[in-house]
Amino acid sequence: MDCHAISSIHWFSSEPILPKAWLCSRRYNRKRRWLKCAQFYVEANMSIVLQGGCRCGAVRYEITEVFDAGYCHCNRCRKRSGAPVFAFAVIPHEAFALLRGELFAEPVERLGRDMVCRSCRTIVYFDMGDRVSIAIGFLDQPARVKPTFHQCTSSKLPWLDILDDLPRFAENIVTHPSERASPIVCEQESG
Ligand SMILES: [Zn+2]
Ligand SMILES: [Zn+2]
Repeated sequence: MDCHAISSIHWFSSEPILPKAWLCSRRYNRKRRWLKCAQFYVEANMSIVLQGGCRCGAVRYEITEVFDAGYCHCNRCRKRSGAPVFAFAVIPHEAFALLRGELFAEPVERLGRDMVCRSCRTIVYFDMGDRVSIAIGFLDQPARVKPTFHQCTSSKLPWLDILDDLPRFAENIVTHPSERASPIVCEQESG
């Protein structure tokens, strides 16, 4: 299994995702089912300001919304990170702002392109068009974005035990974050 999770992840949803305006609609909030979805929507698209950057510090970015976050156990993410499992967050492209630094693009098959720091060659983000994915480890405060699922567990290393109760997906086809019992939660800054 070599899914390149952060570039070819697929979300599926059995229900339409609520537009933000619906959150203010009492008519829909009276219906419990919609209220539940609405709450998930808020959490899945939590407004937040987070900054991060490459290893050398030349590239800095800011994100203002997190769409999804998870662990990927695929071979490609393993090679890419050198770690047994890769923690990533998916950001709507319009919520990602490059603050400084020079990047060059490296196409990855037909999936998208790696955006790489010219100085230190860190892969700063993966450009999927309408969304980008980042390594949580490159955030200044990585503890604030918590992965909410495991994907590509069919490629999990046999000596790695998953001890949490997060949903697990054998491949890179995962439920939409709004439908998961473990919605995206970004810790607000304390103090
Ligand atoms: Zn992967
Ligand atoms: Zn750099």
